[in-house]
Amino acid sequence: MKGIEEQIRATSSQLLATGDVQMVIGYGAGSDNTKTMPVFIKRAEDVGKLVFNPLCVSNLANYLLQWKNFEGKIAIVVKGCDSRSIIRLLQDKQIEREKIIVLGVSCPGQLKSGQAEAKIPADAVVSEAAVDNSGFKLQTSGGLITFSLDEGLLEKCRQCESSRPVISDHLFGEKGFEADKADLQFNDVAALEGAPLEEKSSYWDKYFERCLRCYACRNSCPACSCRECVFDMVEPDWVAKTVNLSDNSAFHLIRAFHVAGRCTDCGECERVCPADIPLRTLNRKIIKDIKELFGAPMPGSDLEALPALSFYAVNDPESQN
Ligand code: SF4
Ligand code: SF4
Ligand code: SF4
Repeated sequence: MKGIEEQIRATSSQLLATGDVQMVIGYGAGSDNTKTMPVFIKRAEDVGKLVFNPLCVSNLANYLLQWKNFEGKIAIVVKGCDSRSIIRLLQDKQIEREKIIVLGVSCPGQLKSGQAEAKIPADAVVSEAAVDNSGFKLQTSGGLITFSLDEGLLEKCRQCESSRPVISDHLFGEKGFEADKADLQFNDVAALEGAPLEEKSSYWDKYFERCLRCYACRNSCPACSCRECVFDMVEPDWVAKTVNLSDNSAFHLIRAFHVAGRCTDCGECERVCPADIPLRTLNRKIIKDIKELFGAPMPGSDLEALPALSFYAVNDPESQN
């Protein structure tokens, strides 16, 4: 991955030096060596802060919403899954195509942060990383650290629809991670769908009950782009601010419907949730239903495709109940 990192730095340096962009949003070293964090580079001499390795788990697309009034052009580093968020932001007219340059990475797969924390000493500097079918190999200042794909690969990578960005102006990396076709069949959702109603209900109650209503899931979500969110409103008070099963369930179901057709399964909501609530399962259920009902592809996978829930066709399926 050193090659990808060097290419990102070289391209960013050139874009900033020529004035083609005024800022690069990418990954930088994190608070310890098992993490990365977003960096916002405005000077060509600072591109050395940009990194790319198997710890670049987060989706940076959400920062385009936060910087949408930035005066100038922004280059942004995206992996395959993140690139779908760029397409959805363009389709929702949240960002203008001519104001961004997409630095796409054909992503080799990302590491589960728990595994990284367990095996990489916090003071060990990762100097080189590679991923192949046998797993991750990280060369660190403390020696070689390996993870098999079974132990190390993020769950969302196992279900990766496209590790190659679906939109990019500059493309880095030759071959991305290829998911097993069997893992792309929404088997996880189907297993829960098939459970008895009481079992499904208690499954979700158990998780919704422990939701803190911290809204980290909403704040990190590139599909949550309303200027005024219903959950912040006081008048009308659409959902009570109390933290209990009833209001928490309302919050989750409303948010799931608000991002229906726009959720790209980037997994950020689940990744940032301090209560470990399996939010991807909830959103993947809706992605699966939309796919089956309307034949729609994964949201964000095609810039030209009309988003499934954004237009009406007379032959759309209707509930018979
Ligand atoms: S889902 Fe695909 S593109 Fe996204 S991090 Fe995993 S392997 Fe990379
Ligand atoms: S991040 Fe988790 S705990 Fe916080 S509001 Fe979302 S689901 Fe609840
Ligand atoms: S709901 Fe979650 S998985 Fe879907 S786009 Fe938002 S953060 Fe990503």
